[in-house]
Amino acid sequence: MTNGLMIDLHSHSNISDGLLSPTELVAHAAQHGVSVLALTDHDDISGLPEARQAASLHGIQLIHGVEISVTWKKRTLHIVGLNVDVENEALKTGLAAVRQGRLERAKQMSAGLEKSGIHGSFEWASARAGQSILTRMHFARFLVEHQYAKDTKSVFKKYLVKGKPGFVDHQWMDLESAVSLIVNSGGEAVLAHPGRYDIRRTNMLLLLEEFRGLGGTAIEVVTGSHTGAQYVEYAKYAQLFGLKASQGSDYHGKGISFMEMGRLPALPSGCIPVWQDWPHVRLPSDPSPIEN
Ligand code: AMP
Ligand code: MN
Ligand code: MN
Ligand code: MN
Repeated sequence: MTNGLMIDLHSHSNISDGLLSPTELVAHAAQHGVSVLALTDHDDISGLPEARQAASLHGIQLIHGVEISVTWKKRTLHIVGLNVDVENEALKTGLAAVRQGRLERAKQMSAGLEKSGIHGSFEWASARAGQSILTRMHFARFLVEHQYAKDTKSVFKKYLVKGKPGFVDHQWMDLESAVSLIVNSGGEAVLAHPGRYDIRRTNMLLLLEEFRGLGGTAIEVVTGSHTGAQYVEYAKYAQLFGLKASQGSDYHGKGISFMEMGRLPALPSGCIPVWQDWPHVRLPSDPSPIEN
């Protein structure tokens, strides 16, 4: 809670791998006391218009966001864009290319599973995803529903990570392109959940240096998948690099999320919140009305 505002700058709808539609997600956020919400679907901004409509009904301030999949030094990273322009042509084209790559990857993942005697995952995942992008989460749901594992967590371990049958070493967007697409569309680039990457300190320092040099301005400090110790650790990294701090639940839906909405602790002291200079994030006592 910050000055009476519950701010959640990372969440997913069923436009990517969340369970709720954009409308349902916004309603869920409202029920859980969130007053500023960023919808940040993986590689897709098409849920934002619907979310905006729902947000105005619920009195939520909606931040237009996206979470872009990136390959950096052979690792997958996620870069969240906040306050992006959904009409920006370069952003739309860039994200469409990532989604095309996802489709190819999904076919390869399915082929990998076939080799292990697991049939029909692509067809099932595509049918389930409908118009949405195909993610590992869709394959995870297929495998759980077909009783190859008991839950999402164990299914990832057994089938969907490096060295396992459903894993494909995919080339995502490069870091420079992702940051510049976000920044050039008027947004801020945020390094998502840095504690989730298998990166030691030396490489983390290199990454943050490079990210900042490319125009990145913030890192997620408080996020659903970080521990309390990681809040402190990444607050220090942010301070070291003069980067701002973001916070978000990374909510995906009941049973598949690290954290429920509305439960984010405050940023550690000394952090500069990423929303500090956002004119549209106002305190409830501010006289001017908020436009969604
Ligand atoms: P993708 O971008 O298609 O590789 O899918 C990655 C998504 O799968 C992430 O955004 C998470 O939502 C989810 N995910 C990744 N690793 C795990 C894990 N170990 N347990 C549960 N969900 C995971
Ligand atoms: Mn996800
Ligand atoms: Mn992520
Ligand atoms: Mn996410």
